[in-house]
Amino acid sequence: MPFAYDDQNIFAKILRGEIPNDTVMETDHTLAFNDIRPQAPVHVLVIPKGPYVCHDHFAAEASDAELADFLRVTARIVAEAGISPGDGGAGYRTISNAGQDGVQEVPHYHLHILGGRPLGRMLPPA
Ligand code: AMP
Repeated sequence: MPFAYDDQNIFAKILRGEIPNDTVMETDHTLAFNDIRPQAPVHVLVIPKGPYVCHDHFAAEASDAELADFLRVTARIVAEAGISPGDGGAGYRTISNAGQDGVQEVPHYHLHILGGRPLGRMLPPA
């Protein structure tokens, strides 16, 4: 079944300028802003400007320019936050929740960048 994008989701409203956001970085294809309920000293959400629901939707249907820009913005945010292990930083985690089992709250694709403290194991024991 094809993905159905709900243009009333909160990130769509942010992209249309209907509600504010704390922007970290913006390009033609990508917006990054601080999470409103941060779970770590660095907690940035990176979203494509196009109407993609989740990671596999974005990966399958976005243009090469959108895909490349998204990843480069992510790397620039990590570098500017000083958390890249390639640059002496202590590291970070990226998470993308999708669908019901992934407990995705906002149905517009987003990547969480978390860092600035030890993050513990990726998942609690099953
Ligand atoms: P997810 O479960 O991956 O869909 O997470 C959605 C994230 O969006 C959560 O971490 C929320 O705190 C965050 N969030 C929801 N509304 C806003 C908002 N208006 N501005 C910034 N972050 C938000």
